[in-house]
Amino acid sequence: MNLILLGPPGAGKGTQAKRLTELYGIAQISTGDMLRAEVAAGSPIGREAKAVMESGALVSDDIIIRMLGARIDQPDCARGFILDGFPRTVPQAEALDGLLAAKRLRLDAVIELKVDDAALVERVAGRFTCATCGAGYHDRFQPTRVPGVCDKCGGREFTRRADDNRETVTARLDAYHRQTAPILPHYEAQGRFFSVDGMADIDEVTRQIGAVLGRLA
Ligand code: ADP
Ligand code: ADP
Ligand code: ZN
Repeated sequence: MNLILLGPPGAGKGTQAKRLTELYGIAQISTGDMLRAEVAAGSPIGREAKAVMESGALVSDDIIIRMLGARIDQPDCARGFILDGFPRTVPQAEALDGLLAAKRLRLDAVIELKVDDAALVERVAGRFTCATCGAGYHDRFQPTRVPGVCDKCGGREFTRRADDNRETVTARLDAYHRQTAPILPHYEAQGRFFSVDGMADIDEVTRQIGAVLGRLA
């Protein structure tokens, strides 16, 4: 199964993608996570992307498309993948069409998580991640069961993203509306496009996505 999760920063793409990887045994491809790994490694891509990401703007299509093309060739994608944070521009969506056609793959569903802009600042500002296993949390909406201890792995170290501050979120939301929202009609026209209420609680959003995928079979 090959899926795209679309939505603004903080919509819940990563949270839902992680659950879907467990439910369906398919790979999560987060271009944001891949870029953060490049930045942490100090690679040439990371050096080029760092300042752009901190400003809240988008990294160049050229870099992203090359990175993505290499990623979907990896063995863990053989059963399918969930794209989380890609495509984010019309050229990226067009490049993906070409990549999939060349590999004779198709998209089973493109799912939009619809969330009010006003809710996103708090979503992003309260986000934190386990430094050991990568599990995602939120200060208010998804706290750890025991304060300071990861539910999944017992880790005690957590990270917050440099770009998850109120000022940068505004720039990221602006980039979403200007550069990413225009790809929605691209997928509406292709069919298999679904919208889910991303304002609902996390379990309810998972149920709604499950209902969409169940109807596809
Ligand atoms: P995205 O990958 O779309 O940027 P995340 O999945 O990282 O978004 O979610 C952003 C933050 O909001 C995280 O801290 C997550 O725990 C929290 N969150 C995700 N989905 C919901 C939801 N439906 N309701 C409330 N908080 C949520
Ligand atoms: P979020 O889901 O919270 O918006 P991501 O982790 O997906 O955050 O992305 C973080 C940053 O990485 C973006 O603001 C952008 O600078 C860069 N980025 C990630 N994916 C892409 C992409 N497909 N195209 C361009 N830039 C990207
Ligand atoms: Zn953990």
